[in-house]
Amino acid sequence: MKSFYNSIGDRILKHTNCIEQYLNGASMLKLSKEFGVSGHTIRRYLDKNNISVRTQSEQVIGEGNPFWKGDNVGYGALHDYVRSKKAKPILCEDCKTTKYQLDLANISGEYKRDLSDWEYICRKCHMNKDGRMTKLIERNRNGIQATK
Ligand SMILES: [Zn+2]
Repeated sequence: MKSFYNSIGDRILKHTNCIEQYLNGASMLKLSKEFGVSGHTIRRYLDKNNISVRTQSEQVIGEGNPFWKGDNVGYGALHDYVRSKKAKPILCEDCKTTKYQLDLANISGEYKRDLSDWEYICRKCHMNKDGRMTKLIERNRNGIQATK
């Protein structure tokens, strides 16, 4: 029974760019969500294809942005500090929508203890900005152009 499910997982993954994404820094968790298989299946699939699996700490760096993973206590404290000092607006400071929940986001990427380095933006803007930031960090780290 187990091998039956395993083979389904493998068959799904065979038609994805799972390995490529993993090598580009996507976590196993992200891939398992994206492709609807278990993390175990991803892991086994990578093993089977002789892809070396990253350790947890490498994984966090591999994601491009170590701050968002909740791994960094300093970041959490800083976030709380800014949140307590900076009033939350009604509109997204970027696109002025009220449609999405607002997130506190860092502007410079340097996470300064400076309220002007932070803004409240909506989920959509936040995701756009994070995407750009992640690529920037990856590029700096690898010295290569990130794809897309
Ligand atoms: Zn917005």
